[in-house]
Amino acid sequence: MIEVTDLVRHYRTGDGVVRAVDGVTFSVAEGETLGLVGESGCGKSTTAKLLVALERADGGALSVGGIDVRTARGPHLRQLRRTIQLVFQDPYASLNPRRRIAATLAEVLTVHRLARGGTVAGRVADLLDMVGLPGSVADRYPHQLSGGQRQRVGIARALAVEPRVLVLDEPVSALDVSVRAEVMNLLASLRASLGLTYVFISHDLGMVRHLCDRIAVMYLGKIVETGGWRDVSDEPLHPYTRSLHDAVPVADPAVESGRAHRTLRGEVPDPAAPPSGCRFHPRCPIAEDACRTDEPVLTVRGDRAVACHLV
Ligand code: SF4
Ligand code: MG
Repeated sequence: MIEVTDLVRHYRTGDGVVRAVDGVTFSVAEGETLGLVGESGCGKSTTAKLLVALERADGGALSVGGIDVRTARGPHLRQLRRTIQLVFQDPYASLNPRRRIAATLAEVLTVHRLARGGTVAGRVADLLDMVGLPGSVADRYPHQLSGGQRQRVGIARALAVEPRVLVLDEPVSALDVSVRAEVMNLLASLRASLGLTYVFISHDLGMVRHLCDRIAVMYLGKIVETGGWRDVSDEPLHPYTRSLHDAVPVADPAVESGRAHRTLRGEVPDPAAPPSGCRFHPRCPIAEDACRTDEPVLTVRGDRAVACHLV
């Protein structure tokens, strides 16, 4: 469903060239959920925007449902919008504050000619029902809804075009902890009932592990590890993934204290001036001399791949 090969997106800024996405390769099969994990500033949201053609890549190849995303224009771009939709972290940013929810959903339906005239209201009601909202939400404005309700509207709006793929960019990170599980359960049940393919983006390895089939870990514009969710979350190989893993709060304090020495130190370096060699070397607890000069390549072993000299 998704084929990404050597994808590149660089931004020119006053500080130089920011290598937001710097040679990323992955694929997602139909019906599969890929978790894209990493700290903020690692290129996850840029990757999301490239997938849905909100931004255009500077290099590499990218296809979604057989559509060449990099060149899609006109009817191909409309077909792409019907195939893949992005759900934002903050639904407030993507909902027009002066519009009732019914009007927001109706606009998508009419722009894509999916409903007209008297059938629009019925379809809006169906969409609200699909995401577990009462029909009365149709007459409300975004500010009259809770964060969880707004994110459900954001999901309904994405589903209005009957897409095959959803890119979920930190869809529950902005929500109260108490409603996160509800929205995660909704996403899981929609995936099952609609046969959707997901790219689920999160900074939290613990968040993605139960929803995802496979996990790809991103650091400073590159993928450093991929594999099945159980392998990556139970036995992470790359030192960065291990640090993310150890940063996940665990219920057992005895285990937690044993892991304390391995938690992530420092911050993500400036992507306009990434470190030489392995980009993780300034933060890596096991870095050696070669790590400062030689860039490790993503090496496939069975159904896993890791970019590290010492793994
Ligand atoms: Fe650490 Fe070196 Fe592996 Fe990079 S290549 S993750 S610095 S051990
Ligand atoms: Mg982001």
